[in-house]
Amino acid sequence: MKLYNTLSKRKEEFIPLEEGKVRMYVCGPTVYNYIHIGNARPMIVFDTVRRYFEYKGYEVNYVSNFTDVDDKIINKAIEEGVPADEISRRYIAECKKDMEGMNVKPATTHPLATEEICGMVDMIQTLIEKGYAYDKNGTVYFRTRQFKEYGKLSHKNLDDLRSGERSLLVTGEDEKEDPLDFVLWKPKKEGEPFWESPWSEGRPGWHIECSVMSRKYLGEQIDIHAGGEDLVFPHHENEIAQSEAANGREFARYWLHNAFLNIDNRKMSKSLGNFRTVREISEQYDLQVLRFFMLSAHYRSPLNFSADLMEASANGLGRIINAAENLKFLMKNAREQSMSASEGVLYEDTKEFVEKFEAAMDDDFNTADAVAAVFDLVRYCNSNTDAKSSKEYLKKLSALLLKLTDVLGLIVDKEEDILEADIERLIKEREEARKAKDFARADAIRGELLSKGIILKDTREGVQWKKA
Ligand code: AMP
Ligand code: ZN
Repeated sequence: MKLYNTLSKRKEEFIPLEEGKVRMYVCGPTVYNYIHIGNARPMIVFDTVRRYFEYKGYEVNYVSNFTDVDDKIINKAIEEGVPADEISRRYIAECKKDMEGMNVKPATTHPLATEEICGMVDMIQTLIEKGYAYDKNGTVYFRTRQFKEYGKLSHKNLDDLRSGERSLLVTGEDEKEDPLDFVLWKPKKEGEPFWESPWSEGRPGWHIECSVMSRKYLGEQIDIHAGGEDLVFPHHENEIAQSEAANGREFARYWLHNAFLNIDNRKMSKSLGNFRTVREISEQYDLQVLRFFMLSAHYRSPLNFSADLMEASANGLGRIINAAENLKFLMKNAREQSMSASEGVLYEDTKEFVEKFEAAMDDDFNTADAVAAVFDLVRYCNSNTDAKSSKEYLKKLSALLLKLTDVLGLIVDKEEDILEADIERLIKEREEARKAKDFARADAIRGELLSKGIILKDTREGVQWKKA
């Protein structure tokens, strides 16, 4: 399995730090508004990377933070006249709803920057002790030149940076020893949220957050660190400097970056005001269409958002869903029969599509080609099944289609009927839970059935059920 490493600028074979396991950190959004579809790109892309590792049998520890303390959050809070944490909590909840709609799995851990301040103070303290950081009137800076490998990720050298150093100076930061130094801790301004520290009442800089949360939840060294390409410099470059200086060892082995999502061939961003939120898109399309659209391009290629491409995506996804539904329909009416010899021979042909799918994903997660392999399978299913097909053959085809689409995170069998046997089993389990006075479990089972459209009725004769 090969992945493109921004650090080496090459595709490299993936070798995990620990066999069978992947430790992965993805920089999450700053939560002061609904996420836009540009933010959705890394979410969808790296969720697909995670799913493919899982498909390959890896256990993935996936950590993605929410940046919940930031100037933009504070400004929004002032604008609305509410506390900053009300803004961040609101938009974390909204972001999670969008993620669910896009079928992005929740991370193993979603740390919040504001809950990890102690760890940040600790790491800053270590950096000061090791001579990599210094305090100037309550602001702590990272001594960039002290970290000899600075620039290794963005492939910039310090001389290039020095020539642009004037623009790096931010008002109030002219007390830095060197214009290249960046902030680790800054004192509060009036009315801002703050935390105690040995240097001042204040808050951490953005870069230190990820270094600390990654170390806490994944360890000093991780396999993959990912995010949008705008984060390469300075955010990820600074994360490397902080983590490697503090821990004394290499931070992440592989650095993955998605290209930008553009709109009308211009960069989409909040500052240009040309962004579309995921929520707006959900009013027009099932968010699965947005997911399909994102995966129709390679993650390192710029992708242009347009109404036409969304329509094409809706059609493309529709073709896969139709094939899945057709198989389901045939299965319902098929007689219980095992696969015939000729079906067995036919089924062998599907191996080719799986190989094509895996070869595409093994080649730096080429989802565009992986989707093409799914279409090959769809065409095959449409032309090699009919009312005479055996149930076993249909089941195998359906399972294969669902397996591959699930790697891409595409839901193609939404109205999946729950099997009667499963309903009976759950009702029995609920009865047992009730006998054991485990009412929480009993209620959870009722809820689970309800979410699948099954209503339970407790009668004197026992439990009855019907479809909603
Ligand atoms: P932010 O909330 O700006 O920190 O961004 C959260 C994530 O979204 C980061 O990984 C960014 O690189 C990514 N991102 C922001 N805008 C875009 C865009 N237009 N296209 C692709 N990724 C983006
Ligand atoms: Zn980060």
